[in-house]
Amino acid sequence: MYSNSLIELDRAHLVHPVASYRGHEKLGVRVLASASGATVTDASGKQLIDGFAGLWCVNAGYGHESIVEVATRQMRDLPYATAYFGLGSEPAIRLASELAERAPGNLDHVYFTLGGSDAVDSTIRFIRYYWIARGEPQRDQFISIEQGYHGSSTVGAGLTALPLFHAGFGIPFDWQHKIPSHYAYRNPVGDDPQAIIDASLAALRRKVEEIGPERVAAFYAEPIQGSGGVLVPPKGWMKAMRNLCHELGILFVADEVITGFGRTGPLFACEEDEIVPDLMTVAKGLTSGYVPMGAVFMGDHIYQTIADSAGAAAVGHGYTYSAHPVSAAVGLEVLKLYENGLLDNGRKAGARLMAGLEGLKDHPLVGDVRGRGMLAAVELVTDKEKKTPLPAAADPARRIFDRAWENGLVIRAFANGVLGYAPPLCCTDADIDAIVERTRKVLDETL
Ligand code: PLP
Repeated sequence: MYSNSLIELDRAHLVHPVASYRGHEKLGVRVLASASGATVTDASGKQLIDGFAGLWCVNAGYGHESIVEVATRQMRDLPYATAYFGLGSEPAIRLASELAERAPGNLDHVYFTLGGSDAVDSTIRFIRYYWIARGEPQRDQFISIEQGYHGSSTVGAGLTALPLFHAGFGIPFDWQHKIPSHYAYRNPVGDDPQAIIDASLAALRRKVEEIGPERVAAFYAEPIQGSGGVLVPPKGWMKAMRNLCHELGILFVADEVITGFGRTGPLFACEEDEIVPDLMTVAKGLTSGYVPMGAVFMGDHIYQTIADSAGAAAVGHGYTYSAHPVSAAVGLEVLKLYENGLLDNGRKAGARLMAGLEGLKDHPLVGDVRGRGMLAAVELVTDKEKKTPLPAAADPARRIFDRAWENGLVIRAFANGVLGYAPPLCCTDADIDAIVERTRKVLDETL
């Protein structure tokens, strides 16, 4: 199907992320060659609808000439400029300012990274700088949530709660703590929204008490837990948790690496949750995946505290590619696209996607359908009443991914039989309907 030599080269040399190296060597790789809108084409010419926007990142869809043009122009004019030594480039300065203008509340200061993992790592450093500056250096304990994902750098992976990322590294470190997820479908307190919120509040209070309230630095939450299986908290959950952090005097970090840039409807999910976090991380949709970039938004109170205490001393944190001008130019163009119709289309397409997936509930394998905007999941079970997961031994993730591929659909198939959806916001009605129809075929073939 593909050129054998390419497959051989891949087997011999390309190390794939989050993969079984032997499994991949045996199964081979699927090679993508081109893409347009929400459709990707593989090296054999097979066309598929990308129901996952690459890795929840190509929010604008593929093939935007205007993005290609700004990147090309920027590469010609100034392909690189460091932000060290007080230097800057116009696109980076403008993007920081445009983002600050749109971010919730006082999130006025933007620190650019290369992606989400280093954005999360950066928050840990900024938070430590902040508490040291506040004269409370003992605040060095961090809390996040079971089933959460905050990247795979060695430090950030300790905030991540997926064991696959921990084995062999002694993480989570003893300063990284977890509270249970709000996961409504399998929550011991049931699925009543207020009961779930109350349970999370009680768990956070308990955890802070257990650690010692004067030692806790920050609490991290994704507005929707993505890699944990698209777990959507009840309405009001983020606000209640944010308020509790305020009351307890600890910082609240919203990790919007997936949910940012229209994925759930508005530019940032925090807008709909009606909260202003102390810090916020983004990546993925920031450049729509065309080039790498992430960012940390810092509340003015965080930035000014660090600035005042550091005085003339440098804050020791930076990357060669921080504020990369080509990524920033792409970010500016993508922001225009969001505001010139993409966000609106994403909202419309998201409503159609949710309605379509809800329609799959009559299928004997479908236990739960959940989502917000263009971020959704279908959880499969073998017994709806008992909510029995698909047997792990049957490798549902691989089987379902393969079946979807054969049916012309790319989705995320999680190991526990959860199907994840994050299509590009540019999807047409026909794209969305095809995603739903093809999913039903996959389910019928999985029975
Ligand atoms: N935080 C969240 C919520 C994510 O979903 C991810 C990646 O999926 C990350 C952080 C890490 O981002 P990256 O893969 O760009 O390093």
